[in-house]
Amino acid sequence: MDFKSMVVDKDANIIRVEEGRLCTSCNNNVQMKILVIPNEVVDNEDKLLYTHDTYFPICSNCYGLNMSDVYIQENLKSADDAYRKHFDIINIGEIKSMVSTLSMIPSIPIISKLLGFHEGLLTKYMAGQSPTKEHSELMRSVKSLADLEKIVMKREKKTIEEYVDTYLGGLY
Ligand SMILES: [Zn+2]
Repeated sequence: MDFKSMVVDKDANIIRVEEGRLCTSCNNNVQMKILVIPNEVVDNEDKLLYTHDTYFPICSNCYGLNMSDVYIQENLKSADDAYRKHFDIINIGEIKSMVSTLSMIPSIPIISKLLGFHEGLLTKYMAGQSPTKEHSELMRSVKSLADLEKIVMKREKKTIEEYVDTYLGGLY
């Protein structure tokens, strides 16, 4: 990307300037301009699905990109928020709420297995990894232990207790 023309010709929005920041390109204490550039997310046929903001800290002296962890995290969050909003994907709060309705099963890895995921996946979802639409719908459908029981019964032809006894050694 040509950040210089974006800053000079204002092709991109500058949302804020930060004074007295060390530029890692020119090694000067400079004013950093934070550009906002819309990122377009397309489907397999190149059709635009949605856009979300991405942030680029640019040195006003050398126009070098100074992408720090803070902005990497901010851009990841922007991408994830937009993905979840566009596809109506379950958020972390909803996942934690689902887990709390299953408090009689005191193990996240076991709940993960009962949902049909590999045992570490639910933990990753609770830490912020974005679920697929299919997994999102499945987690949203679980409002009680009875809902989870139906899912296990349909998939395994077993009750939760039988499944846990047979495959997980009666861990709870
Ligand atoms: Zn610089």
